[in-house]
Amino acid sequence: MKRKGSVTVLVTCASLIIWFGTMLAANCGAQLAGSVPAIGNQPGVQTTGPLGDTSALAREATTWLSDLIKINTNNPPGNEEAAAKYIAGVLQKEGITAELLPMTPGRSALVARLKSSAFADPSKALLLVAHLDVVGVEREKWTVDPFGAVPKDGYIYGRGAVDDKGMLAANLASFIALKRANARLNRDVIFLATDSEEGGGDAGIRMLIAKYWDKIAAKYAINEGGNVYVKNGKPQYVAVQASEKVAVSVNVIAKGTAGHASIPLKDNPVTHLAAAVEKIGSYTAPAHLTTIVRRYFEGIAPLQDDEVGKWVRSLETSDRGEHAVRVISDANPMWNAMMRDTISPTMLSAGVRANVIPSEARAVLNIRLLPGDTITALLTDLNKLVQDPQVKLEIQPDAGLAAPDSSLESEFYAAISKAAAEEFAGAPVLPYQSTWATDSAQLRLHNVQSYGLVPFPLTEEDIKRMHGDDERIPAAAFAKGVDYLVRLLGEFAASH
Ligand SMILES: [Zn+2]
Repeated sequence: MKRKGSVTVLVTCASLIIWFGTMLAANCGAQLAGSVPAIGNQPGVQTTGPLGDTSALAREATTWLSDLIKINTNNPPGNEEAAAKYIAGVLQKEGITAELLPMTPGRSALVARLKSSAFADPSKALLLVAHLDVVGVEREKWTVDPFGAVPKDGYIYGRGAVDDKGMLAANLASFIALKRANARLNRDVIFLATDSEEGGGDAGIRMLIAKYWDKIAAKYAINEGGNVYVKNGKPQYVAVQASEKVAVSVNVIAKGTAGHASIPLKDNPVTHLAAAVEKIGSYTAPAHLTTIVRRYFEGIAPLQDDEVGKWVRSLETSDRGEHAVRVISDANPMWNAMMRDTISPTMLSAGVRANVIPSEARAVLNIRLLPGDTITALLTDLNKLVQDPQVKLEIQPDAGLAAPDSSLESEFYAAISKAAAEEFAGAPVLPYQSTWATDSAQLRLHNVQSYGLVPFPLTEEDIKRMHGDDERIPAAAFAKGVDYLVRLLGEFAASH
């Protein structure tokens, strides 16, 4: 692949790079260890951004990624402190003092800062965010040890390889690259590893912000949440998450009269619950496009085949819009979820014995609201639909909060787009509203312009393994992601 605007430079001790007047005395010992010649622009081979060749750094970062996978931070219980301490050790070797931020016993976040001046200036600072915890595994369904960081067929296997230890290690690498380059910074760069992204609660980002805001306050952030989508062997587009749907869980509670199962009762709560869940589960909320989703569809339309592309372009037309929404919703469940509030019934419970009619039956709905929609409005619609005085809907505590979108006009969004265009030539950069929730919502609520990346070019097949079995990351994609983040930081945080 051909890449615009990049010059291939091989970093050696003899060739200190003069870059926009800033002399970057790279840490030659580390850079040269295992350094290989750049061999053009083949897939997986690094192009050279402002901070030089990242091949050797990517190999080091692969070791950090493997070590982090081997530290089991399955949440619950999380035990993130062990991983935080490991990162503190890596940073210490670079002469960077990190600070552990205790959350609950055994759970600490970690923060470290590269300063641009004697005084911290949050109004310019850039925060690099990734989470330390991972979701659980069904061990018997894995073909390798999920905490073994097994290298196989060009991949590194392990829970967290993509979500989110890959980004954690890549953030760490780009942070260290800035330090090694001794670059003059135009803003503070803050590395943050968070706890309990997957579980929330007392160790999660909400509490972290409440306790330690002064240590992490920033104008901009990068986090997980987007993707570099690969199809037919090359990146199709780079999706930059600037908004996310809002997660709310709702209990469905049916009550009735308990009794002997040999005498059926009309108010049996199991029957009432089942009927309510059936109605709710087949309900489709009305579609509407938020600004970011509209921009996303505009961007992907040219990448589709003629038929799908035609319907994507018709989404908001007055005559064919309704039909287009149906076609597009059917074509891809994620597109459906991007256009409307969605409801997934996820849990059911009732009964204590086979021959006892229980007095209560319960279900849980996991609801994802479009930003701007309210749960009360949706529950009003669902209550009308269910129309059963025996059934009540009750919002669970700890619901997500709607956050304002991150700006698509900011200098940082422009920098992300520029670096992506250089790194993944030919792939358009699209704003993205994720159906899943990330730590960015809390940051956006605190006026941080937070953007979701996941900088690794991944296929649908590899993306689907997040939270699934045999999660893995292609080693070449990891290296590419490291290169992208190093380039982005070099362009955005170092003085030109
Ligand atoms: Zn994650």
